[in-house]
Amino acid sequence: MDVTTNTLPAVPTPAKPAGIELAEGVTLDQLLAALPGAVDQAMRTALPGHYSQEVAERIAAEMIASLRQSRQDTPSACPVYRDCEDRDPGHYDHYNHRLRVTGEDGSTILDAGMAALSGDDTRPVVYLRNEDFADAAAAHAKTAELRQLLDQVDAMADRVFADHKASRAQGGAR
Ligand SMILES: [Zn+2]
Repeated sequence: MDVTTNTLPAVPTPAKPAGIELAEGVTLDQLLAALPGAVDQAMRTALPGHYSQEVAERIAAEMIASLRQSRQDTPSACPVYRDCEDRDPGHYDHYNHRLRVTGEDGSTILDAGMAALSGDDTRPVVYLRNEDFADAAAAHAKTAELRQLLDQVDAMADRVFADHKASRAQGGAR
């Protein structure tokens, strides 16, 4: 096998439509555009006895249809919130708790998400750690503060390690 093997493992077979993961930074459209050429090459290389342009095109078309279908079935099954994770038809509690940055030990440094629960108050909230936001402006105001803090962390890291290096260079490191 040659370079074609590098592209093929990312393409699930039509028999396994669920759980399709595209590589980071690769959109479905990009993948689908590359698929006919990849299938053609793969057949020529791996199955030369079975290759014909017509067969390769048909297989590619089936894979494309299957991929499109499976991508349409899974995302956004929630009719109300595009960010809602709940895939059950007719659910009333909407949520997404997936946004998260974890440390090396797996503990959460920062997490965020949304919820809109059934009951007396169905208004949605977006949260950041323990802070709930009732509207986009409130969320934006707090994330602006956080961006500033992160810039300060970067600047502090630059200073601290530069200072440490400088003190070592002078032979005074403790
Ligand atoms: Zn929902």
